[in-house]
Amino acid sequence: MSKGSAVIVGLALFGGAFWLLNQQKKQTPHHNPFESMAQSLYQRVCSVFNMPSAPPLIADYTVSNAQSNGYNITYNPYWIESMVNRHCNNTECSQSFIMGVFAHEIAHHILQHAFKKQNRHQQELEADFMAGEALAALQVPANDFQRILGNLSQHGSPTHPAGIFRKQYIANGFRNYLRRTGQAWWLSFA
Ligand SMILES: [Zn+2]
Repeated sequence: MSKGSAVIVGLALFGGAFWLLNQQKKQTPHHNPFESMAQSLYQRVCSVFNMPSAPPLIADYTVSNAQSNGYNITYNPYWIESMVNRHCNNTECSQSFIMGVFAHEIAHHILQHAFKKQNRHQQELEADFMAGEALAALQVPANDFQRILGNLSQHGSPTHPAGIFRKQYIANGFRNYLRRTGQAWWLSFA
C-alpha cells in the first residue's frame, strides 16, 4: 500500500467513525423519557394515516396544549402529563388520550385547517371524527379519550365546541371505521 492510499484509508475510517457517532446522536434526541414515549406513540398513530410524509412532532414547553400549524405538530409534554395524571389510572387510558390527541392534530394537518378560513368548531369536530377513526384502526379504545375531552370543555369556547359534541364525533368516527372495515364486534369500545 502506498503512503497516499494509506492516508485515504485512514481518512475513510475517521470519516466512518464520525458518521457513526452522528447517527447515534440522531437516534437519541429525546432525553426526557416521557418525550421518547410520546414520539413512539406518535409514530404508531402516523402509521394508520395515509401520508406521503409525517409532519415532525416537536415537544415545546411553551405551548398551552397541542397544535398543528400545517407544517409540524407541537405539543407540551407537561400538559399531556398533567392531563394523564389527573384523568387516568392505567396505561390503556393514557394511551387512548395521548394517541387521540396526536390523531386529532394529524387530522388538522392532513385537512390543512391552518390555511383554511372555516368555522373553528367545524374544524375541531372534523379532527375529532378522524381521531376516532384512527383509534379504531389502531385498536385503541376511544372511551377514555372521549371522556377526558368531554370533561375538558363542558360548555365550549370560541375555538372549541362543547365536550358533548366532541365525544359524539369521536364515537361516530370510531364506529364509522369499524362499519367500513366490517369489525362491528368491537363497537363496545366507543
Ligand atoms: Zn383541534
